[in-house]
Amino acid sequence: MFSQPLKVSFQLPDWISDFSRSYISTTDNTEQMKFILSAARMNVEQGTGGPFAAGIFEIESGMLVSLGVNLVTSQGLSMLHAEMVAIALAQRKLNTYDLGGPQLPAHELVTSVEPCAMCFGAVIWSGVSQLVTGARTSDAVAIGFDEGLKPDGWTAALNGRGVRVSANIERESARDVLQLYLDNNGRIYNSREGG
Ligand SMILES: [Zn+2]
Repeated sequence: MFSQPLKVSFQLPDWISDFSRSYISTTDNTEQMKFILSAARMNVEQGTGGPFAAGIFEIESGMLVSLGVNLVTSQGLSMLHAEMVAIALAQRKLNTYDLGGPQLPAHELVTSVEPCAMCFGAVIWSGVSQLVTGARTSDAVAIGFDEGLKPDGWTAALNGRGVRVSANIERESARDVLQLYLDNNGRIYNSREGG
């Protein structure tokens, strides 16, 4: 008889809780990115997923609301990109699907690599009002990741939706994390591997 799971959940790596506490609150996007990149590096070193991390921060206070890392391979769910994890955790924490709700301070998403097609859509639905990115889409593609079909002019599209975009923040360091993953023979997963 057909049956399906009644619940989908995912487990964060054990290290992430202590790691989150190492964040020193700042409104400086470069400092926030350095923290996010060290999380991405940790995710590679601990073998808990792909070389990507992302965080939701309050823009005005610099407070960290949530920290996400890529969990695709460790949790066996293709949706668990770092941005998706960070957004889900923040929305659970604040008990709302809209991080741009009227009772809330403005939020930003800081991500180690520009969002893929899925995460680009998720940014729009999440309610964040700023996106801060490290490595470029082309950097991820260069090591074999597939970023999907993203529209040309996607940053302008976000701007048009009220989401400011700051790109190339610590790009070289972000690329170093991607390279580390490659050097460690990390698994390059795609929706159509070898295709
Ligand atoms: Zn993504």
